Amino acid sequence: MIEKLIFEKSSPGRTAYSLPECDVPVKPLEELVPKRYLRDKTAELPEVAEIDVVRHFTRLSQLNFSVDTNFYPLGSCTMKYNPKVNEDVSRYDGFVNLHPYQSPEQCQGILQILYELEETLIEICGMDAVSLQPAAGAHGEFIGMLISHAYHIKNGKRRSKIIIPDSAHGTNPASASMCGFDIVEIKSNSQGLIDLERLKSVMDNDVAALMLTNPNTLGLFEKDILKIAEIVHDVDALLYLDGANMNAMLGIARPGDMGIDMLHLNLHKTFSTPHGGGGPGAGPLGVIKKLVPFLPAPRIIKEDDSYSWQYDFPESIGRVKPFYGNTGVLIRAYAYLLSVGCEGLGKITESALVNANYLSKKLSDYIEIPYGERCMHEFVASTTKLKANGITTLDIAKRLLDYGFHSPTIYFPLIVADALMIEPTDTETRETLDEFAKALIKILEEAKTNPEILKEAPHNTPVSRLDEVQAARKPDLRWRKT
Ligand SMILES: *Cc1c(COP(=O)(O)O)cnc(C)c1O
Repeated sequence: MIEKLIFEKSSPGRTAYSLPECDVPVKPLEELVPKRYLRDKTAELPEVAEIDVVRHFTRLSQLNFSVDTNFYPLGSCTMKYNPKVNEDVSRYDGFVNLHPYQSPEQCQGILQILYELEETLIEICGMDAVSLQPAAGAHGEFIGMLISHAYHIKNGKRRSKIIIPDSAHGTNPASASMCGFDIVEIKSNSQGLIDLERLKSVMDNDVAALMLTNPNTLGLFEKDILKIAEIVHDVDALLYLDGANMNAMLGIARPGDMGIDMLHLNLHKTFSTPHGGGGPGAGPLGVIKKLVPFLPAPRIIKEDDSYSWQYDFPESIGRVKPFYGNTGVLIRAYAYLLSVGCEGLGKITESALVNANYLSKKLSDYIEIPYGERCMHEFVASTTKLKANGITTLDIAKRLLDYGFHSPTIYFPLIVADALMIEPTDTETRETLDEFAKALIKILEEAKTNPEILKEAPHNTPVSRLDEVQAARKPDLRWRKT
């Protein structure tokens, strides 16, 4: 089904409403609006009946793939379900009618929520302070890099290098490089983990920090984390954790106890707030004591039972976001945490891990999973063996759409050739995982018996294969009257 543009449904003179003539005197438009602001010609707007407006936008909304409609195992992205109660809470009048210029005395409630969210995240991560300002994971990374720069400058020396494993998310080197650092990449070992000897060999007094993802993007836990921390701290460098994968540790283990000096979280992944479409998200940054003075300002202060913003932090890297962060997202995360409770946190992790291991075990006879016997919250398969049949990872991804599943992340992480990175998340039922496994196994069979059907997939979607380069570089977003 291709939905026509609303302009193409327009018929001259048709309107979406009919109201009685106004029976009180109305001034002519020219008296109300200065002439220079009035149009010469009427705007070319679509003229359609109300029911056509409703149908048009309802249908458009159904063309989207979403977590609310289908399974979305997009590795690293943690596309878990966001309970609707969080949405309801964030839309309370008391929240949506707030204005950031109101004085703190007038908004003690929201300040208390932000303060308590900070305290909860501090406890979950084992950090000493958290800033809620960063608007996304990559933004948190960038601020972490600014802080590591400030820390070394304060200690008397600018350091120029950031160490990043080859399994890292692409935002890590991008954030460090935006901050002016040189990136030193280290190759993972044959188990897909950090190679301690290689790490030692690149550490010197010019290294500002190691950016580590744990569990890493292969879904494997860096079991030598304590040794890694020691090697990093031996040269007084900082250990930065990309905490986007916190779904694998919640309530079970705390990064602060593993020697992590700072980390960002993705509230829009682990803490069940919406993501996609470019945001808004939230990527809070947590730090240990020695880095607290550098955190972005302002920060919330609690004195007796009252909350206020404090601006006076002379060593702060400054403000990194207008106002105080994406408050609507922060409220959702707070509501989620309250509804889950302390005990629930560990259960989230258990379900995430059980789901990923269940699925990987189900698939392991049919598709190659190059690293790790067991995984954490996600695993990475490879479709390299299907190349002989002329089938690419992209073909598999497209064909999954015909079976009603969003594709896993493909061609990432780069250390696995033809990667399919699968993260089922904690919110899916066993039945859904079984259906997904069945579909993928069937597609792998089709790859051998009927490769053409994969090459031309998807067949059941409104549009099939788009020219992705053209779509990104020359998007055609505007309707013009012909
Ligand atoms: C998603 C993700 C990021 C980036 O987070 P954004 O909010 O998209 O900027 C960084 N690292 C990892 C491991 C991620 O999964």
